[in-house]
Amino acid sequence: MSATRIEGVSLANQIRAEIARDVKALREQGKVVRLACVEVGERPESVLYMKSQRRLCNALGIDFTVIALPDTISELALLRRIHELNADPDVTAMILELPLPARINTFACQRAIDPNKDAEGVHPVNLGLLVYGIAHHAPCTAMAAYQLIKSTGIDLRGKECTVVGHSQIVGKPISLMLLHDFCTVTTCHVATRDLAEHTRAADILVVAVGKPGLIKASMVKRGALVVDVGVNRVPVLDADGRPVLNEKGNPAHKTVGDVDFEEVKELAQWITPVPGGVGPLTVTMLLRNVAEAARHFHPAIA
Ligand code: NAP
Repeated sequence: MSATRIEGVSLANQIRAEIARDVKALREQGKVVRLACVEVGERPESVLYMKSQRRLCNALGIDFTVIALPDTISELALLRRIHELNADPDVTAMILELPLPARINTFACQRAIDPNKDAEGVHPVNLGLLVYGIAHHAPCTAMAAYQLIKSTGIDLRGKECTVVGHSQIVGKPISLMLLHDFCTVTTCHVATRDLAEHTRAADILVVAVGKPGLIKASMVKRGALVVDVGVNRVPVLDADGRPVLNEKGNPAHKTVGDVDFEEVKELAQWITPVPGGVGPLTVTMLLRNVAEAARHFHPAIA
């Protein structure tokens, strides 16, 4: 039997309606709800991400401001700008677009953001709160994966969970969230000796690596819930394995996750598709953090 797809879009729409309602309540009291997006230089990755942030902010009634800074800016000048935004009452949340130029210490800049204005949930204070089970401004992708798991309604207590990938923004925080719900969590990484042994034991498998085809059906337990966080662009091939060309005559590409979806869907009970699973929910979680930040700024609104 084929797995049930856990669709990120429908859950995202539901949560977006809640955010829009909260933002409207703040606005009706004349309060500011503004996300400032700090961009250093212009990078194609950021341009796309910022476009979707702006579109969604517009749809939810959130003001969106881009602070475009030159590629040549010094670390000190960038830190000063972040501190100014921290102190600015017209900015209720902030996001620092990555990657920054290599000469700038990214962690130092993320740490400089006021934790209460941290839209992405990457400040060490917000990451540290997860140890206490407080997802105040949780990292958006980890929270998106967690919400998708919760949306199935399964009882997490006592479940064997394997998380593949131990990054600060996905693998580690999702491991903590699941641990807080009394799952037995195994977190795998590059030094894991036998990855398949751990993935096969999982009732819930979360994969956040960035390697297409890493997880095959032989590595998944029958009836598992599989969340594929990975986003990879791969060439489209025809039946003979030759690259398919697009209308411009260039090799066509498609987006896939880390899990071999076609194989794994035949034995999993639930699976998130890529695209359409974690992705749509990630930017929604960002804007939920923005609404939370604005509420913190204006605590009179329940
Ligand atoms: P990352 O910082 O590069 O982390 C990848 C992790 O995978 C690292 O912890 C790495 O370990 C581990 N790893 C590498 N090879 C492995 C292997 N063979 N077996 C087990 N673990 C392995 O990436 P990330 O930011 O966490 O993102 C992970 C994936 O999610 C990427 O594809 C990214 O594009 C995607 N993503 C999606 C969204 C979304 O909204 N859908 C958002 C963010 C990220 P080491 O550090 O020890 O090498």
